[in-house]
Formats: sequence, structure tokens, C-alpha cells
Amino acid sequence: MAHKLIDSYREKGARKKLVELLRDRGIADEKVLKAIGKVPRHYFFDETFWTQAYKDIAFPIGEGQTISQPYTVAYQTELLHIKPGDRVLEIGTGSGYQTCILLELGAKVYTIERQENLYKRTSQVLPHLGYHAEFFFGDGSKGIAEHASYDKIIVTAGAPMVPEILLKQLKIGGIMVIPVGDENSQKMITILRLSENDYERISLDTFRFVPLVGEKAWDA
Ligand code: SAH
Repeated sequence: MAHKLIDSYREKGARKKLVELLRDRGIADEKVLKAIGKVPRHYFFDETFWTQAYKDIAFPIGEGQTISQPYTVAYQTELLHIKPGDRVLEIGTGSGYQTCILLELGAKVYTIERQENLYKRTSQVLPHLGYHAEFFFGDGSKGIAEHASYDKIIVTAGAPMVPEILLKQLKIGGIMVIPVGDENSQKMITILRLSENDYERISLDTFRFVPLVGEKAWDA
């Protein structure tokens, strides 16, 4: 993780190109593109790897985990239709890059990570970059009941199924975005809570995430 905060013309230029690339790949929400254009993704990389930061690729961040591909971050964010003030639960803090994108869109973010070292690192680095979320350490497959309910829920790890307990923590009218499948590939699923007991599910494109590991990951 880089601690020298240098955002030079080189990084700014690379970021602009990344935004154009994502637009070409089908990301249409201008607010999401603007957020991608603002968050210095190279700060999530060791300085040795800054040249990799604005390629549309996932990248290892330690503890066997990855910072998601920019396209994937943009894709999930677009599906959430974030409005300023939305209370968002993010499961899988990881590097915190996705967290920053949500914060740029004006969300209040509750984010949970089960890897202690990542939790510690990210909860220290983000405030240092000027990004303020509520950080939690633990098993996010159970959600965070104390702060429920949420306008939006985003799961950034591949789940074998949709944990029932998360559906209950979604507000009526709320949206959840979660990749569901086996460890090799997952379908992006978006779930809209229509009423107390009714949910509408839409299955979208295929992705590959690191696995969601947790008590309720198998609890549909
Ligand atoms: N949003 C992240 C992507 C990180 S990869 C980013 O932008 O960098 C997914 C993360 O989910 C990993 O850090 C992994 O440790 C975490 N994870 C997996 N299962 C989890 C669970 N049950 N609760 C919380 N975090 C979990």
C-alpha cells in the first residue's frame, strides 16, 4: 500500500483513459464514471506497481485477496443506483477501493472484512486518504444486524447462494447486488425487495470473484 500521496499528471491521465475504456465497455452511468475518475486507484498499490493501477485488471493486495477489476467495480456500483445518503452495507472491504467509489457517490458505508490484516490496513488507510466509512471486522455473510436495515447491499466476493439473512437486512425498495455461483464463475444477481416477503431477482453477466467464506454463505 502506497503511503506517498502523489497524484501526478501521469496518474491523472491514466485515470481519464480508464474512464473512457469503461465507457467503451458499456458503463453508462456518468456519476459512476465520475467517481472512478476521482478515486486515485494507484494509492491502493505499492509504488512499484503504479503502472498497473489504471489497467482494467484485478490485482493481488495480499492475504490471497484482490482489488477488483475497475470494470467489475463500476458494473456493481451502477446496478446499485446509489443516491446521496443511501445506507450501504458492503461485504468484503478488501482494499477499500470499492468503498471509496461508494463514498464518492454520497453513500454512508458500513463495510465488513473477515481477514484481520486487511481490515486493519484498510481501516487505517482510507481515513488517511480522506475517505470515511464505518469499518467492521468479522463474518459479513451474516450482514451487520446492529445497523440494519440498508438501502443497498453489495457483496464483493463470490457466494454459493444468496444468504437469507442478508435479504432480511435490506429495506423494502432496497437493492442488493451479489455474485452467485461456484468458485470458478458467478452470475451477477440483482435483487430488489418489493415488500416484506417479495423479492425480484435478475441474473446478469458472468464474473469471477474470490470466494465468500462464512457461516451463512451456504444459508439460503
Ligand atoms: N471490494 C474489494 C474487493 C475485495 S475481494 C476491493 O475493492 O478491493 C473480496 C473480499 O471479501 C476479500 O478481502 C475477502 O477476504 C472478503 N471476504 C470473503 N468472505 C467474507 C465474509 N464472509 N465476510 C467479510 N469479508 C469476506
